[in-house]
Amino acid sequence: MGVMSGRIPPAASLVAELGRMVGREHARAPGAAELTDATEVAGLRGRADAVVAPATPEEVATVVAWCYEHDVALTPRGGGTGYAGGAVPDGGVVLSLRRLDRVRALDPGLWRMEAEAGVTTATVARRAREVGLRFPPDPGAAESSLLGGNLATNASGPHGFRHGPVRAWVTGLEAVLAPGELVRLGGPVRKDVAGYDLVSLLVGSEGTLGVITAAWLRLVPAPEATAALAAAFADARAGQGGVEAVLASGVVPGALEFLDAGTLAATGRDERFLLLVEVEGGEAEVRREGDEVARALAEAGALRVEARAPADLWRWRAGVSHAVASRRGGKLSEDVAVPVDRLAEAVDGVLAIGARHRLEACSWGHAGDGNLHGTFLLDPRDAGERARADAAAQELFALALALGGTVSGEHGLGVLKRGQLARQWAPAAVAAHRAIKAALDPKGLLNPQTKQP
Ligand SMILES: Cc1cc2nc3c(=O)[nH]c(=O)nc-3n(C[C@H](O)[C@H](O)[C@H](O)COP(=O)(O)OP(=O)(O)OC[C@H]3O[C@@H](n4cnc5c(N)ncnc54)[C@H](O)[C@@H]3O)c2cc1C
Repeated sequence: MGVMSGRIPPAASLVAELGRMVGREHARAPGAAELTDATEVAGLRGRADAVVAPATPEEVATVVAWCYEHDVALTPRGGGTGYAGGAVPDGGVVLSLRRLDRVRALDPGLWRMEAEAGVTTATVARRAREVGLRFPPDPGAAESSLLGGNLATNASGPHGFRHGPVRAWVTGLEAVLAPGELVRLGGPVRKDVAGYDLVSLLVGSEGTLGVITAAWLRLVPAPEATAALAAAFADARAGQGGVEAVLASGVVPGALEFLDAGTLAATGRDERFLLLVEVEGGEAEVRREGDEVARALAEAGALRVEARAPADLWRWRAGVSHAVASRRGGKLSEDVAVPVDRLAEAVDGVLAIGARHRLEACSWGHAGDGNLHGTFLLDPRDAGERARADAAAQELFALALALGGTVSGEHGLGVLKRGQLARQWAPAAVAAHRAIKAALDPKGLLNPQTKQP
């Protein structure tokens, strides 16, 4: 794979050729960092012949056109924080978007921003905050993941419950499509239903349908106030009752998260099941909604409901994944999602699967979205444990499907979940998925190993 035909020069000449397009110092042989992403399954490392870092959309188009002409595979790369192996190359060229790092426009009065693919997630959020606005999607790894990667994975975070994933905040894209054409889809226009929804097709396509170079983003005024509550429950079943009680209260929380007993133990806490609820809005509204949610949680059987300072809560929440991984040195986490009324079955199911494979297990995640990080702890040096964790993950995917859910609520298929979509979708839907890929990438050169159904 990668250098796909005999027509193209060997790696050294490939680097030289790319250097002629973007400047010699921006094309080189790949370093170890560009052959991996944040995938925690030890050992997932790709190979590539060159890394190229164009500075402009036009240079991206030139690189794509040349690779397409010469049958060279391309793996677009953002911050390399993906959890599905999508940025792990399998030969050919790693196309880094890092140098496209300009915020092209920020219009506070019009609630919009145009930013390039290489701007960090944290920068997008900060620039909006500085003018009293908010970009609500809040995936983790904000300092190191890039807007293009967020878009290509349709990322979301805790506030996705109320505000949706990144897709909900994009009104337009600039992208390079095969065989190397720069196109603009949508723009600063807030409504556009003229053609097929190619923006939605590219968002979440994990670098397999085109290379995103910039996006027009919708922003909203930042809420005047937020308040957060933590509610302890006896177990997952009771906690699910708490989630349903919050929904029935009619309050729309900004975030509605959960952590199970194993996850809490990893962070030094001894509750059996915890719900975190944040409400947002005007001062008076936040006070009233906070009271309503607290009452709903108490009536649903919460053992304890406490107010928390939102900033402290989110700082603590951001460290959970690391605390869990530290227990045994590593973990395999899969981001399945189920209908919200099946959440407790999924949480208990993760524990049962772990027990069957003799692995400590736990889960946490976005309760309101039924999205859990089902996690199996492992010692990364132990090949036997890694193999058992892989087998456990397969069972977790099957459980998510049996509960009417999906194998990925956040991270995408990448290379890790290759083949899983065919278990989830009917053959005709899988055929449509393949037809879309064939239509937009007829040579199959854009991230060829990723998102295979
Ligand atoms: C600590 C931590 C916390 C995380 N928390 C969350 C979370 O809360 N929610 C969540 O959804 N994810 C989360 N993730 C996963 C990851 O951060 C997201 O998937 C993120 O959006 C990936 O961005 P990236 O720039 O690192 O992309 P990369 O890892 O570089 O790439 C991801 C995929 O997108 C493609 N791609 C990248 N840039 C482009 C582009 N410009 N055009 C086309 N394709 C492109 C790549 O080919 C690859 O398939 C977390 C990861 C870590 C390490």
